[in-house]
Amino acid sequence: MGSITLSKVSKSFGEAKVIPSIDLEIQDGEFVVFVGPSGCGKSTLLRLIAGLEDVSGGQILIDGKDVTQKAPAQRGLAMVFQSYALYPHMSVRNNIAFPLKMAKVDKAVIDQKVQDAASILNLTDYLERRPSQLSGGQRQRVAIGRAIVREPSAFLFDEPLSNLDAALRGTMRLEISELHNQLKTTMIYVTHDQIEAMTMADKIVVLNRGNIEQVGSPLELYSRPRNLFVAGFIGSPR
Ligand code: ADP
Ligand code: MG
Repeated sequence: MGSITLSKVSKSFGEAKVIPSIDLEIQDGEFVVFVGPSGCGKSTLLRLIAGLEDVSGGQILIDGKDVTQKAPAQRGLAMVFQSYALYPHMSVRNNIAFPLKMAKVDKAVIDQKVQDAASILNLTDYLERRPSQLSGGQRQRVAIGRAIVREPSAFLFDEPLSNLDAALRGTMRLEISELHNQLKTTMIYVTHDQIEAMTMADKIVVLNRGNIEQVGSPLELYSRPRNLFVAGFIGSPR
């Protein structure tokens, strides 16, 4: 569970055709990175997949089912927002439990799922704290915990580390990769940072002005960039 297919997906905002037409296959369990310069349409593409924006044309399939007309909550995906999207007045426990409470899940089930997520994320000792009493990395893990408890078929990340300093970014990069190894759930990760793309991805999707320039493994893009844009962006010696 967690394959995603985009078929001729397009998006315009008024006159601006931000995404002309994208075809893409994401396999169950893959770690896919959308990379490209600022304004190339990475967030828009992720939001289309999440259902936070309506497509202008084309289809989105999740596990073979057409979800193009479905609301975000019906797609079985979890978007991980930056850590500042946490509720400051709620404990870590209640921040993580929030989506389950909204879905009126049994309290005992909620407690167990929060416990499991906290254990995976090393947050067990911090459940009664407020976000303001945590480090930046811990806050980011709480934001991830809130996604984990929903047991999504895929996680969607939009530049989750861009607010963190360089050292912490490195640590969190490893933690998210480790989380993927552990959960083996599909992840789509948006970044403008080539290092994140090259070190985290099974598959990199290089975007430029709303078009896919190339799709491939980090090694493929590095050793066989299709054009100068990819070569320049990935930093390969073409
Ligand atoms: P990225 O995430 O790669 O930086 P975005 O997907 O945010 O790029 O934006 C792609 C283009 O779409 C930009 O030119 C941006 O200004 C435009 N855009 C994004 N969202 C909207 C919107 N809601 N209304 C109008 N234009 C938008
Ligand atoms: Mg963006």
